[in-house]
Amino acid sequence: MSLFSGFYKKTREERIAITADSRQLSKQSKDTLLGDHNLPEAIAGKMAENHLGTFALPFSLVPQLILDGIEYSIPMVTEEPSVVAACSFGAKMIAKAGGFTSQISERLMIGQVALYDVPDMAKAQEAILAQEDEILVHANNAHPSIVERGGGARQLTVEQKEDFLIVYLHVDVQEAMGANILNNMLEAIKEEVADLAQGKALMAILSNYATESLVTASCRIPIKQLHIEPHIALEIAQNLARASQLAQVDPYRAATHNKGIFNGIDALVLATGNDWRAIEAGAHAYASKDGAYRGLSIWKIDHNDLVGQLTIPLPIATVGGSIGLNPKVQAAFDILGQPKAKTLAAIIAAVGLCQNFAALRALVTSGIQQGHMKLHAKTLAMLAGALEHEIDQVALLLRQAPHTNLETAHAILAKIRTETKEE
Ligand code: NDP
Repeated sequence: MSLFSGFYKKTREERIAITADSRQLSKQSKDTLLGDHNLPEAIAGKMAENHLGTFALPFSLVPQLILDGIEYSIPMVTEEPSVVAACSFGAKMIAKAGGFTSQISERLMIGQVALYDVPDMAKAQEAILAQEDEILVHANNAHPSIVERGGGARQLTVEQKEDFLIVYLHVDVQEAMGANILNNMLEAIKEEVADLAQGKALMAILSNYATESLVTASCRIPIKQLHIEPHIALEIAQNLARASQLAQVDPYRAATHNKGIFNGIDALVLATGNDWRAIEAGAHAYASKDGAYRGLSIWKIDHNDLVGQLTIPLPIATVGGSIGLNPKVQAAFDILGQPKAKTLAAIIAAVGLCQNFAALRALVTSGIQQGHMKLHAKTLAMLAGALEHEIDQVALLLRQAPHTNLETAHAILAKIRTETKEE
């Protein structure tokens, strides 16, 4: 039996002990988790201006997710009830079908120098491309350490977009997200390309539309695995495929479909200290790549299987930014087995697809509301001031009440306390 079985029923300390044993965590990571150590004041105060303190969110674990034949535990930082439970459920179900697989072909970041007042666009484009090799050398000279690490500027492309001539620099940034590498390189070539175009440079900056850092996660679930009754299993599979189709044709549904994907992705991106605004911006732009905003994942029936696929730009880093500074982020990397950037990106894509599967399955079967209200009732009980021994009772009565709201939670709590006193 897996060490993780009944994980959700254990105490926090027991869960940490199981995680530490199963994932061979360092003593430092175990101590960080047990002591709940967050950012020290000296570091937090330097990370952002006008620092008043730090801000905590639950740090949780999806115990087992299989990707490319390897079992991972997934650290998640999220305030939203049911995200971790849903992902754990999806991961368990998809593990029975062999787990997820991933594909990554390249991992380059793109930056741009935007030129304007260019007198002859075609001539400028030709002049810049004729100097491509020299410009790449100048870009690499601006950040030689990334070249020593095996990365560096790889290619230059030029496109006219209305009044702008845009020079795109494609850079292998290795394990970093690459904001500083790109910005150094772009600043270094800015005047040179403006001179070649006989125009002016408006800006030189990294783009978050990371179309050369695409990651695909897939899974194939035998339909019969979706329900004990074969005809219900088939209906679930068909409705899941319909739900995916709906997200392709209706942006109102697509936004919510993708939000569900990001419930998982953001939680892991945040736990690993990556820039979730950058990931969100790039992914939503990618969701609109053909001019209409669409769902990022596709579910289809293929013979006797339900097949899911998610492709998303994930310029994920394992170094840089706040990654090395936050003890919890270090513990998250330890839990994940210290993956390289490409592997981490693949895990994140698999988590997004897993979260999407769990949400769609709930949506097309019993409805998402039932599970959600259970956790929502607990949150309301806590907000009403219920103590640990009162929470479950208040939540249960709250779910049976006609209105599940804070006012009712207060009333139920007051009633329970009066009754307890009278006894
Ligand atoms: P950092 O500059 O903090 O870290 C990246 C640096 O780490 C590299 O430049 C490199 O510096 C060093 N490094 C060490 N080992 C490696 C390795 N194996 N592979 C690659 N680099 C390595 O961060 P980034 O420039 O990556 O930027 C990330 C931060 O920038 C995030 O916090 C993000 O929020 C922020 N940001 C984001 C923007 C955006 O998204 N548009 C814009 C501006 C900032 P060296 O070679 O010199 O040692």
